Amino acid sequence: MRLTIIGCSGSFPGPDSPASCYLLEAEGFRLLLDLGSGAVGALQRYVGLYDIDAVCLSHLHADHCLDLCAYYVARSFHPGGPRPPIPVYGPAGTASRMARAYGLAEPPGMTEAFEFATLAPGTRQIGPFRVTTAHVNHPVETFGFRLEHGGRSIAYSADTGESAALVGLARGADLLLCEASLLDGPDLPADLHLTARQAAQHAARAGAGRLMLTHLVPWNDRARTLEEASGVPFAGPVSLAASGQAIDLG
Ligand SMILES: [Zn+2]
Repeated sequence: MRLTIIGCSGSFPGPDSPASCYLLEAEGFRLLLDLGSGAVGALQRYVGLYDIDAVCLSHLHADHCLDLCAYYVARSFHPGGPRPPIPVYGPAGTASRMARAYGLAEPPGMTEAFEFATLAPGTRQIGPFRVTTAHVNHPVETFGFRLEHGGRSIAYSADTGESAALVGLARGADLLLCEASLLDGPDLPADLHLTARQAAQHAARAGAGRLMLTHLVPWNDRARTLEEASGVPFAGPVSLAASGQAIDLG
């Protein structure tokens, strides 16, 4: 299982990264986790535009889903003809939200380009991946993920405040890809995002093998993000995600 960070910028694209998008590959199958603002551009550096087999959207905030509009154009209007539809898993209402975002009438909206499937908490097979989803703690319906393949596992927080469900998804995972949108400070908003320190606490509680901090907001100091996470007792390595970084989990 191979993870490539396409976009790891939090809440809006940054100068060095699109918003959230992660490419998971195994057995030649390519799954995108989130397709946030700007991601379709950078994606083309790492994979053929038409080599994606499925997309999972954690939630319908623009920085996690809006480049489905760009991908819709790329798949629908190629001079060689429309590309066959691929599955898009997302929260309830994804198909309508995406149609509205692009200004498409329904039907058909984007249903000729994408086969929309509604996520629910539980486990399903997507290509070679065993995918477990659970609701995390964010103002709109949001799913955290655990992806397993060949005895390896990756958990992805999506956007969340403190969440016991995230600890469950990340239990014993080889890698926790966890948002760290906030730095420590007074009057932090509840039930919205995690601080870097809270991300590390979740990784420690889950017994994850390693922690990669993501959803890094451009206005935050990256060194301080890493420093705050590193202050938490956690056995594994802690790093910051960067666009273009690839991790082979075997
Ligand atoms: Zn969000």
